[in-house]
Amino acid sequence: MTDCVNKERRVRVRFAPSPTGPLHIGGVRTALYNYLFARQHGGDMIFRIEDTDSGRFVPGAEDYILESFRWLGIDFDEGVSFGGNYGPYRQSERKEIYRKYVDQLLEAGRAYIAFDTPQELEAKRAEIPNFQYDASTRLQMRNSLTLSKEETDALITGGSQYVVRFLIEPGQDVVVDDLIRGRVVVNSSILDDKVLYKSADNLPTYHLANIVDDHLMEVSHVIRGEEWLPSAPLHVLLYQAFGWQDTMPRFAHLPLLLKPEGNGKLSKRDGDRLGFPVFPLEWHDPKSGEISSGYREKDYLPDAVINFLALLGWNPGNDQEVMTMQQMIDLFNLEKCSKSGARFNYQKLVWFNHEYIMSKSDEEVARLFLPVLAEKGVDAPFDKVVTAVSLVKNRVNFIHELWDNCSFLFKAPTEYDEKSLKKWWKEQAAETTAALCDFLEAQEDFSGETLEPKVMEWIAQNGYATGKVMNAFRVTLVGAAMGPQIFAITDFLGKEETLARARRALSILA
Ligand code: GLU
Repeated sequence: MTDCVNKERRVRVRFAPSPTGPLHIGGVRTALYNYLFARQHGGDMIFRIEDTDSGRFVPGAEDYILESFRWLGIDFDEGVSFGGNYGPYRQSERKEIYRKYVDQLLEAGRAYIAFDTPQELEAKRAEIPNFQYDASTRLQMRNSLTLSKEETDALITGGSQYVVRFLIEPGQDVVVDDLIRGRVVVNSSILDDKVLYKSADNLPTYHLANIVDDHLMEVSHVIRGEEWLPSAPLHVLLYQAFGWQDTMPRFAHLPLLLKPEGNGKLSKRDGDRLGFPVFPLEWHDPKSGEISSGYREKDYLPDAVINFLALLGWNPGNDQEVMTMQQMIDLFNLEKCSKSGARFNYQKLVWFNHEYIMSKSDEEVARLFLPVLAEKGVDAPFDKVVTAVSLVKNRVNFIHELWDNCSFLFKAPTEYDEKSLKKWWKEQAAETTAALCDFLEAQEDFSGETLEPKVMEWIAQNGYATGKVMNAFRVTLVGAAMGPQIFAITDFLGKEETLARARRALSILA
């Protein structure tokens, strides 16, 4: 279909979060696009944990991320908790590997050791406006380029802390050939000599670990958020420095997720303000104790969330919106992803949730409804739940809303809605309801189909007004002038319960 896949090379993609907190919904979209791409090409999907920044590590984040994907139905072939032949997949367990590659760059003169303390760097920043550690300044700093080999070695043996910096040659055009953004050219003069490694914790920084792992894990495509685009030129230079340019992954930087309204990127504050979650699952912050809402707990269906996210930055090119995972896998096209930001229209997600409730069988929806019923103290036969669902599911956007729409099927009304009474319980309401009860009492077959024409005929013969009779009757059964078709209700309740409810209402209201 496209030339973004090299036939000689197996498609291998990775989702590589840093466990610094809950997974943001934008991260879920990134993982989903990786997943769709991998599945479409029969490739591998890797789950790598990028935890080299120990200062930002948050306990519980890794489990949270894994649980989110289990809930969403995104599965991985390899990685942390999945196993595989390229492990370990947690970067903090790969220290020795990175050290070897740092040494390789040092030996080749593509990196150097820098001893500048935070104070020294601060002083330079104060002295030079827009200070950047690069070709124009590095020779004024305390590093292995300005110190002799003996001095450098002595400092290291003496226990001085240092970092390893990437030596960037200025004045070269660095080309990032991005599958979504096209050819992006950046001049290396604007890049700084990024820190690749820190002696303080013997850990590489994100940039080095990310490149080394993508190389060793034979990653063919790097599909990630646009916020990583500024790092891409540096990554290209690193591949070149290692001599790995021939197996460099293809890049695809996904468009930003934008606020539902106004400018700028989607933030947690937008969600708090407008009342939608920005995390897949509820998150309990272990430090602050703060609880952030999640789509699962807010009663969204995982497949609706997936479908909604799939269309934030991509569409299949026709008007189709509701798609199964398999359809998305078949139709997905990385090169058709948009460059411009995708507006996070959460109302659309509510619409998807409704569509997914409608697209599921009544049995499936009933199963999802059972926990709500249990919580309300209702223990009804499953076939009754299925029937109740069939009567009201078209009215709801969320599973929990089924309860408000059908609670009266399971619990007789204990009170009657004022407004409904005012409108329908007047004049002859009590009289016609009592007469209707007598008529119903005499009916053998209480199925809705049989009953409806008989009652209609009875109303006509007596010269009653259908609306008045039936709405008054409805209020006695439901407690309000609401609910599905009245004969579906009597059918559901059965003769005994129908009459009991109508007569109880008569005794209270008459
Ligand atoms: N660890 C980075 C993150 O948290 C990975 C970025 C990338 O995919 O290269 O998103």
